[in-house]
Formats: sequence, structure tokens, C-alpha cells
Amino acid sequence: MRRIPVNMSIPQDNSRDNPPGGGLSRGAGLYVHVPFCATRCDFCAFYQVAPTVARTRLFLDAVEREAGLAARDAPRFATAFWGGGTPGALSAANLARLGALVKKNAGGGLSEWTVELTPASASEARLEALREAGVTRVSIGVQSLRGELLEKLGRRHTPRQSVEAFGRARKLGFAVNIDLMFALPGQSRDEWLGDLGEALRLEPDHVSTYCLTLEEDTALWLRLGGGRTDPEREADLYLATWDFLEERGWRQYEISNFARPGFECAHNLNTWAMGEWIGLGPSAASQHGRVRGSNAADLDAWAAAVDRGERLTGGRTALDDATLAEDALIFGLRANAGVDLAGTQRRFPGGDWERLRAAADALCGNGLAEQAAGRLRLTRRGRLLADAAGAEFLK
Ligand code: SF4
Repeated sequence: MRRIPVNMSIPQDNSRDNPPGGGLSRGAGLYVHVPFCATRCDFCAFYQVAPTVARTRLFLDAVEREAGLAARDAPRFATAFWGGGTPGALSAANLARLGALVKKNAGGGLSEWTVELTPASASEARLEALREAGVTRVSIGVQSLRGELLEKLGRRHTPRQSVEAFGRARKLGFAVNIDLMFALPGQSRDEWLGDLGEALRLEPDHVSTYCLTLEEDTALWLRLGGGRTDPEREADLYLATWDFLEERGWRQYEISNFARPGFECAHNLNTWAMGEWIGLGPSAASQHGRVRGSNAADLDAWAAAVDRGERLTGGRTALDDATLAEDALIFGLRANAGVDLAGTQRRFPGGDWERLRAAADALCGNGLAEQAAGRLRLTRRGRLLADAAGAEFLK
């Protein structure tokens, strides 16, 4: 069975008018992976290294060259997103440099530009540099507003720093997402909902709620003696989260994401809907021109490849309609809006639609999905089992 691609998350609405083949009708997404963190959180499995002056210079020089190479492939970008690592590991001056080169290569007219920041790095100087560059949205990695839980995760910030970072971002006029985590070691249901309620009192525009996953060989995984999970506890926390947010007027648009109207993350929606995106920086993934691939997860190897004029040196896969149709369903179903089956078939007519429609019917038959007005949506139970439901579409 083909593996579900990693490093891609979830669509909201597949009914958009992309031409067959998932072309660039709306512009692609531009992702930049800033691979620096001063310290490693205990649950982290992302590619990142400690920033030094030499590494930072190597990164910025190479990303500038890579942006030039990428601009030839996708001359018009609609959204940008910087993640990592943490972009806040760069100084305000270096953020301004990165911002200028993104603007130069983005072809103008970014409708949304998000930067992830840790609370400790969201200084006034950095936020002002981002504002000046044209960034519209910041995503703050709060994770929890309880100090003892942050310590258990190996996070080096305090709840107070999170609140202050939020205030500074708001003052400068950014749309703000708060990233939170649940199912933390020792965290009770009431503690989680208390945490969530406290975050909502800040009045963010968007909330992402992630269930802690224990990635193999992370410090937390080793400390807890392996990848132990408690599916029943996790399901209970998912349901409690959805109810809690819904009761307070928050609209869920994807399993882990909630937004005030108009504040859904357009960049992620494009990725999840099998649009096109280009990733810059070590370990960044891309999907464009019917090719999916990723950069080397190693700063030096990536920079050397860029020097040779090469991108996407790892896992290059040609994308045909069959693969894109499967992925559009797998990722599309995680969105509350579900998938427009006829629209997706028009986009990817070469998919094995007899098999895919039979799988959709089977999901409806066992209560994991439902169809209405031409759209296939997961039920509440189906959303709890979204990975298993999605796997039904894989050959
Ligand atoms: S800030 Fe993010 S990327 Fe950096 S160590 Fe923590 S989890 Fe990993």
C-alpha cells in the first residue's frame, strides 16, 4: 500500500475551480523552513539545528539562491508561510532580509503571509520587522498556559511570555493563531479545558489544537519509555475539545483547526486541497508541476545542492491523477466541509473512480462518513478515525 504523504495536512473545500491537473490558477503557496532552534523541545522530531552566525549566513544565502530557482517554477504565489524550527531564531535584521527576498520572488500580491514564532522569540523588534516586510499573520507556539506542563515538554518559555507575545502581535495588527497541545503527560481533561479557556480569553483569530504525538527517539518518547498512547483518553479529549470550542461559537474547519469567520489559514487549505506549493530550506517539501519531493534534511547538504542549482533532491515522485485523486480524498475528508466528489473527479479524471466511490460508499455504510449535496464528509465518529478512514482510499 502506498504511504500517506507526510508533511502535508488538510483541505477544506475541494470544489474550487482548479483546472484539471491542479494548476496554478490561484497561485501557489510558498513555504520557508527556517531550521533553527536555540534548544530542542523534548517532543520535537522536526529538522532543526542550533543557530550560529555561520549557519545563519549559509541559510540566508542559500535560501536566496533557492528562491530564485523556485520562482522559475511558480512565478505567482498567493500565500507564504514560514515555519521551522523557529523563524524567531533569526534576528530582526535577518528576518527583514528573508522578508525582502520572499517579496522579491513572490511575484507580488500575497493574500496571506504567516510566520510561526515561539513566545520567547516574539520580541517587538522582530514583530516590527515582520510587519514592515508585509507579514499578515503570526502563529504563536503557546502549547500550554500551565508552567509545569511546559516544563514537562521541555519548552523554555513561560505562560507569561505567551500572553505578552500575543499582546505585542495584536498591538501591531497581526491576525493571530495560537497553537495548543493536549494529551500532555499528567494533564487531566479539566486542566486541558481550563488551558483552552484561558487561551480563548486572549481572543485569538484562529486556534490550532494538536494531540501530543510521541515521535520515536525524541527526548519525551525516551523519557516515557516508548510511544505509549491511550486511544480512549485521546478520543475523549478530541471530543471534549470540539464541544468546548463549538459551545463558545468557534467554527471547526479541520480536525485540529478552528477559526473566526474569514480567518481560516488559506496557505494550509491550498496544501490540503492538493494545490501547489514550493518549499524552501532544508527538509522543506514541495508539490508543483506534477512532481512531489523534498529538500535534504541537512543544512549543509541542502545548501550544497542549491549551489549546484538543484532542488527537491529527496523522494521525487511524479504525480498522476490516480495519486492526486487519492490524496485529495484522504486530506479533503479531514475538513469539516468534506469533499466535492464530482468536482474532484473533474480535476483528476484519471483516478480509479470506481474503486474510490466504492470506498466512499463503504465509509458511509459503516457510519464513518455521510454524503449530502454531492459532498462526502466524515461524521463525528469518522473524524476520530480519520487516518483509518483515509487509508480506505489507498490502493
Ligand atoms: S520550537 Fe518547534 S521546531 Fe524548535 S525544538 Fe521546539 S518543537 Fe522543535
